[in-house]
This record gives sequence, C-alpha cells and structure tokens, in this order.
Amino acid sequence: KIITPYARDEVFADEMRIVLRNCGLIDPENIKDYIARDGYKELGTVLTELEPMKIIEMIDESGLRGRGGAGFRTGLKWKFTNQAEGKEKYVIANADEGEPGTSKDRLIMEGDPHTLLESMAIAGYVIGANTGYIYIRGEYQLAVSRLETAIQQAENLGLLGDNIFDSGFDFEIKIREGAGAYVCGEETALIKSIEGERGEPQVKPPYPPNEGLWGQPTLVNNVETLANIPVIIKKGAEWFSNIGTETCPGTKVFTLSGDVENEGVIEVPMGTPLREIIEDFGGGIADDREFKMAQSGGTSGGCMPKTLLDTPMDYDSLAEIGMTLGSGALLIMDETHCIVDMVKCFMRFFKHESCGKCVPCREGNTRFYNILDKISQGEGALEDLDRLKDLADTMSKTALCGLGQTAPTPIYTTLRYFKDEYLNHIEDKVCTTGSCRDLTAP
Ligand code: NAD
Repeated sequence: KIITPYARDEVFADEMRIVLRNCGLIDPENIKDYIARDGYKELGTVLTELEPMKIIEMIDESGLRGRGGAGFRTGLKWKFTNQAEGKEKYVIANADEGEPGTSKDRLIMEGDPHTLLESMAIAGYVIGANTGYIYIRGEYQLAVSRLETAIQQAENLGLLGDNIFDSGFDFEIKIREGAGAYVCGEETALIKSIEGERGEPQVKPPYPPNEGLWGQPTLVNNVETLANIPVIIKKGAEWFSNIGTETCPGTKVFTLSGDVENEGVIEVPMGTPLREIIEDFGGGIADDREFKMAQSGGTSGGCMPKTLLDTPMDYDSLAEIGMTLGSGALLIMDETHCIVDMVKCFMRFFKHESCGKCVPCREGNTRFYNILDKISQGEGALEDLDRLKDLADTMSKTALCGLGQTAPTPIYTTLRYFKDEYLNHIEDKVCTTGSCRDLTAP
C-alpha cells in the first residue's frame, strides 16, 4: 500500500504535521485555499512588525536544523548571511532532492507550493535579498508546474513582486531545473549550475553565506527546512523547541520504502524510534517476513541491524552510532535480501553519479564497486575487506564533497553489523539469500 500525505487514513493517526500541515487539505493550484488557512499571514507579520534580527533570534531559539541532511543550525546560517557584506544577496531553495529513496520535498512542493514561496520571501527579507531561486529536479514536473502557477498567483495578489504588503520590500522567485545530476544537490555544485557552469562542487570554505551565487552572500536551505519557518513564526520558538528531542527539535518527514506493508511519506517528531516508524506507520514487515536492515539517510546513510531498532531517529542519536539521518530516506529490507548485493547496488549508483572532479571519489567508488562485485560473485578474498576499509578511510578524509565523503558509510556500517554475510561470500562462496545479482547483465 502506498501512503501519501494527500489522503488521511488510519495509518496517519499518530502523525505530527508541521511541514505537511496543508497537504491534502488545500488545492495546491488555488492560492485562496492557502490564504484561507492563514497562508502569507506570517509574511505580512514579518514585513510589517518584525525586525530581521528578531526573526533570526526566533529561528535560532527554535533550534531548527537543516533538513537536507546535514542538520546545520538554520538560525546561525540566516545570521551569517544577514551579516555578510555583498552587492546583492540571494535565497536558494534546494529542491534538487536526489537521494535515492527520498521524495519528501517533492510532496511538500506538489501539495503546498505556497508554503515554500512564503518562506523564501521571509528569508529574503531577513537576509536582505530581493531574488530567490528554486533549484528543482527536472524530473519533478508536477511540482514545477504547481510552483509556476503559485508564483503567478502570488504575484497577481501582490504577495510576491514589488512593495509586498506596502512594506517597500521587493522579492521575486525564479525556477531553475536540474538535469539529473545527483551531485547538483550539493550546494556549491548547485550554485555553479545556476550560474550556467558545469555542476561541480567547490572547496568550502568559503561557505555560501559569505560567497555563494555569483560570489555574493547566499542562503541555501532545503525545502523541508523552509517549510517550517511560517509555523515557527506563528507559534513561537518555544513551542517548536518542545517538539522532538532537546538537540533536534521539531518533526522529520521520512520517506519509508522497501519491505513494509505501507510505503510512503510520513511526518513524525524527531527522535521517534525506528521500530515505531516501521510498525506503527509502515504496518510492519510485509508478508510475515523478518526484518533484516533499515537504511537511514539514503545511499550515504548507515545500515541499521535488528539490534538498533529502538534507536531514536534524529541527527545526534544516529551520529553517535556512526550513521546519518540524512534526508530521512528509510529503506527497509527483509531477510530475503543480500547485504553485499545491496551495497554493490549503492556503489554502482555512486560510481555513476561521481562528478569525477576529485580522484578519491572518482576512483574510490569504482573500486568499491569492483571489489564488491568480485565478492558477490564468490571470487573475493579476505584481504578485500581490508581494502574496502582502507579505501573508506581515505575517501571519507580526502574526497572534495559530501558525495565522496559519505559514500563509505554503507561500507563501514555493513562491515560492522553484517560482516558474516561478507564472510559467507568469501569463505563459503555462497550468498545465503541467493539474491546476489550480476549488475552488468542487461
Ligand atoms: P555540510 O556539513 O558541509 O554543510 C551543511 C550546511 O551547513 C551547508 O549549507 C553549509 O554551507 C553550512 N555550513 C557548514 N559549516 C558552515 C560554516 N562554518 N559557515 C556557514 N555555513 C556553514 O554538508 P553538505 O555537504 O552541505 O550536506 C551533506 C548532507 O547532504 C548529508 O548529510 C547527506 O545526507 C545530505 N544529502 C541529501 C540529499 C537530498 O536529496 N536531500 C542528497 C544527498 C546528500
């Protein structure tokens, strides 16, 4: 069964919706529906009653952290961009959601496009920008058309454009579509792509708040991060900080997929245990099979075994055990799948998506793939496990951007928790699940 935020049923009974608050309750192509649910009210409040620093304090006190995956403090990022000097400043909504198994930003934009526009305008006012870009996956055509409609409707009502709410503040939003490169979701590659250059990551620092689009101070926030802003302004920092965990307040939108009864997108308080997400929302493992592994944070996240089912799902709890929450992709696997085969699939993805700019990532992912392919075909040697580990250490320390730095996470976590499966393939020459595939076959 596929669950979507657009339809409410019993699966969602325990959900907590901040980001998805309007999804399914408004017609996303009709601005009046959004306004009827207090849409653009917070933009009005901000422009007519609140100083930028007051809003930065509010966001900072709320404890909101970036929902693209890294969990950087949003208030701090807004403050850096507000304080940076530049001829012009920009806001960018990172909607290039490329993490396999993640589709939360797509559903937010398709179900509630005005939330993103309102949040970007608030951000523009706070940091001193008059232009915002939505950099969106080219595959997300429904979201693109709804955003285009929403921008047009907001401009017609004077909620975007010149002199919004008679405040003297001007803000326009432009859409830029990506062309399918995973690495363009990395903020510096994304910026290069908007500039019309090849989408390759740059060395950080300088960070975009100081030197971003066309060398100017730029705020890059993920769609889900931005969608929290109007609610924090409406209900206050304290209200928000009391949801979730102390160090990771608020909710998280997870994309649940794989061998569960119900797959789809759900929003729950940060720190909700993995077991609860799988059982209460996912309806448990499908076909009465056994749980084997949950992959947190997409391909670059960690592979969690049964013993970690009670882990609270938030940035810090996962970081403590060497995993990442990332963008909230949760791929659940049952006992019938092979871990070596799965990690090989991930490495094939990374090898394909590596932009090739830095050697550790370009070479490393190909070598990961080749070693795993050998092991999965029963031709591996014990030394290959040391090679995987050495390569992982080198890449995590030396790769230029997050792609190469985090590609080793599935290697580390499966060597830690599922070493037996590697050994079965190497020593006994068997894949106990019988599910290893030849990925080179047509
Ligand atoms: P990062 O830690 O380098 O930075 C996170 C954010 O904090 C960036 O915006 C960065 O500019 C900002 N930042 C960090 N230090 C700063 C400083 N000193 N001053 C100003 N700003 C600062 O991480 P990243 O490479 O941007 O992102 C990695 C994450 O992306 C991973 O956790 C991964 O899960 C996630 N990811 C998400 C997707 C997706 O589809 N959403 C896809 C791939 C990866």
